Amino acid sequence: MDKILVHICCGVDSVWALRKLREDYPDAYIEGFFYDPNIHPEEEYELRWIETKRVCNSLGINCTKGEYDLKNWFNAVKGYENEPERGERCSICHDLRLEKTAQLAVEKGFNKFTTVLMMSPKKDFDVLKKIGEDIAEKYNLQFLAVDFRKNNGTQKMNQLAKEQQLYHQNYCGCIYGLFSQRKVNFQSGSFIPELVSFSKGRLAGSREELLFIKQIRLFAEELGLKVEEQQFRFLGWRVISSRLQINKQDIKHNIYLYSDSIKGVLNDRVKSIIGNKIILEKSDVEILITEDNIDMEPRFTTNPIFILNKKDIQGINIEKLTMELTTEFIPSSKSQNLYIGDIYNASEIIKFYSDTDFEGKNGYSLKEINDTILKNKENIKEGKTAVIVFGANFFGKIGENIFKHLSGQNSLLNPSDKVFC
Ligand code: SF4
Repeated sequence: MDKILVHICCGVDSVWALRKLREDYPDAYIEGFFYDPNIHPEEEYELRWIETKRVCNSLGINCTKGEYDLKNWFNAVKGYENEPERGERCSICHDLRLEKTAQLAVEKGFNKFTTVLMMSPKKDFDVLKKIGEDIAEKYNLQFLAVDFRKNNGTQKMNQLAKEQQLYHQNYCGCIYGLFSQRKVNFQSGSFIPELVSFSKGRLAGSREELLFIKQIRLFAEELGLKVEEQQFRFLGWRVISSRLQINKQDIKHNIYLYSDSIKGVLNDRVKSIIGNKIILEKSDVEILITEDNIDMEPRFTTNPIFILNKKDIQGINIEKLTMELTTEFIPSSKSQNLYIGDIYNASEIIKFYSDTDFEGKNGYSLKEINDTILKNKENIKEGKTAVIVFGANFFGKIGENIFKHLSGQNSLLNPSDKVFC
């Protein structure tokens, strides 16, 4: 019997390619091998692995995850950083991944191997074919050069990816390819959002938040539960840097949601303190003093608002303030809700949310959510219980309000919901 080891780079490229291989080789044993140390950063690599696993699970195909040997990959492409996509660096990158696949194929007693990279319209089929066949000769294997794109393959791939709600990446994988795609030099220190993580947190709309959702999704699907994702867009925002000094002393602080930037360094004096609010003499910056966590709610003004904890300013005579603040608005941030079970008819709905604050606090752990799903597995299957993980909670409970709207509960038009989306 033919045994085919398939190198897999992501869920989207494998969703049709694996089916096509099944069609072409109905009697063969097919197994997947996710080996992609070229994918940067690691959260992206994990995300693509989870989606690959979901595709393989749906087809009953075993798939193993190769080592994330980043150092090896960087060493291999050294000197080719500025090559364009489809250039020499890409050939080395393909070579590395296919050679590893061939080695594993030999080790596991496979006689054929191939790669779903031949699905991608951005890859050169002939180059991949040549690399695959050269490696096959070296290891005494057969390389299957299948043009998965033929006969509407790309359309079929897109359709299946949509149906399975697969994550669709917007770059090939490595930092060099990403920099050249954005037309910036990788040595210039330019800002590339895909490569930046602002803190330990799973910020609303971040890749970390999406990865968290996908991890829960994979867990629930592997338990045989019905799962659906609902994606939505919202006005995103984040703090790039901030500083607050009172009488020249640095003070720990938070920034209120949707605060705008301050130009340069702002010096101001206290005009009055009313309740928990410090009013300044000349600027529209607001300072709030609290004892607890503030429930962040979106608002229609964007005045910069600093939040101070009462205990951090105890005994300080507040007179002069020096403030710096750089924030960024992201007009089309994306987040998602995850629905597990029959959310419309279940008598019990257990609610979680996926994002955290900037420091990774005020959120749920993967274990907490997965343990709950496992504990309620039978009830979820029977439709008695459903679990929902809402996205973008920090931004005024956007995910939860979108679900309310969807399920016809309190509509977004209800002013008491204080929704801004
Ligand atoms: S652009 Fe893609 S194929 Fe080329 S080196 Fe980077 S990850 Fe590899």
